[in-house]
Amino acid sequence: MEAAQAQIRDVLDVSGLVKRYGELTAVGGVSFHIGAGETFGLLGPNGAGKTTIISMVAGLIAANEGTVRVAGQEMDPSRTEAKRNIGLVPQELAIYPDLTARENLKFFGRLQGLTGSRLTQRSNEVLELIGLADRAGDQTKKYSGGMKRRLNIGIGLLHRPTLLILDEPTVGVDPQSRNAILESVEKLSVDGMAVLYTTHYMEEAERLCDRIAIIDEGRIQAEGTREQLITLTGGVDRINLRGDGSMARAAEVLRELPAVQHVDNDGAGLMLTVSDGPTALAGIVTGAASAGMSVTSVEIVRPDLESVFLHLTGKALRD
Ligand code: ATP
Repeated sequence: MEAAQAQIRDVLDVSGLVKRYGELTAVGGVSFHIGAGETFGLLGPNGAGKTTIISMVAGLIAANEGTVRVAGQEMDPSRTEAKRNIGLVPQELAIYPDLTARENLKFFGRLQGLTGSRLTQRSNEVLELIGLADRAGDQTKKYSGGMKRRLNIGIGLLHRPTLLILDEPTVGVDPQSRNAILESVEKLSVDGMAVLYTTHYMEEAERLCDRIAIIDEGRIQAEGTREQLITLTGGVDRINLRGDGSMARAAEVLRELPAVQHVDNDGAGLMLTVSDGPTALAGIVTGAASAGMSVTSVEIVRPDLESVFLHLTGKALRD
C-alpha cells in the first residue's frame, strides 16, 4: 500500500533501466524517482551514460530492460500520451535564428497544441520566467549563447510539463550566462514541476539539486542529498597540488602514504583524498618534492561532491 502511494506521489519512477549497444553496456541497471517540486541531478563525467538515461526516460530510445513511469503512466517510445507530461531540453539548440524569441515560442507552442490567447499568455509567462521578456522581439541570431540556451529551456516549458528534463544546459556558455541559466532553473520547481538535471559540473548539482545521483560507467554509484553523499567520504579532505616535474612518480609515492586514500593525476596537478588533511599536508608536500614534482600551489578543500566522486570511483570529475 505504501509503495503504491509512493509511486503515485512520484512524478518520475525509473526502475532497473538497462541499455546495451552491442558489447557496450551504456546503462547498467539504473533506478531512481523524482517527486513533484523536486530537482534531481544526474552528476557524472562525459560518457557516464546521462544522455542515454534521459533519452530512455523521455521515450526517445527503447530500453533493453527496466521501466519508466511518468505521472503514473508507463513510458515507451510508442506512447505519445505519456510524452505529453515531459518537457525535454536537449543539449543542442533547437531554435530558429531568423525568428524572434516570441516567434520561436509561438511556432513550437503550436506544435505542442497551444493556440490563441492561451499560446500568447503562456509565451509571455515563459519569457518572464527565462528572463527574456525585454528581448522577445529580437531575432535569436543576435542573442548570446546563454540567451539561446534559456530560450531552448523556455520551449520545453511551454506546455507546462510535469517533468522537465535538462541535458547539460550550461555546456559551452560563459560564466555570466551560466548564472542566468541557473537562476531560471531555480525558479522552475517552485510551482511543483519535477526537474531532472544532468551535469558534469559539481557546483551546479550542489546549487540546484535537492537530491543527486552520482553516475559513472552507466551505474548510479550513490544517491542522496548533498549532505548524505558527503558523509560517504567519511569526512576526508581533498588536497590539490599544482606544479610540474615528475607528477606520475609523485602520484605513485603519495599513494603509499597511510593518510592518502586516492590520487588522481590530470597532468597539470594531483588531486588527493586524505584523512585529516592539515596533519598529513607536510608529509604530502615533502613526498611529492622527493619524487621529483615541483609543487607551485597547495590547496586543502573541505569535502564536496568532487571528493565524493573521487572517493567512489578513484577518478576526478572533470571535463
Ligand atoms: P556526454 O555528456 O558526453 O553525452 P553522457 O554521460 O551523456 O556523456 P552517453 O552519451 O549517455 O554519456 O554515453 C554513454 C556511453 O554510451 C558512451 O560510452 C557512448 O559512447 C555510448 N553510446 C551512446 N550512444 C550510443 C550509440 N547510439 N551507439 C553506440 N554507443 C553509444
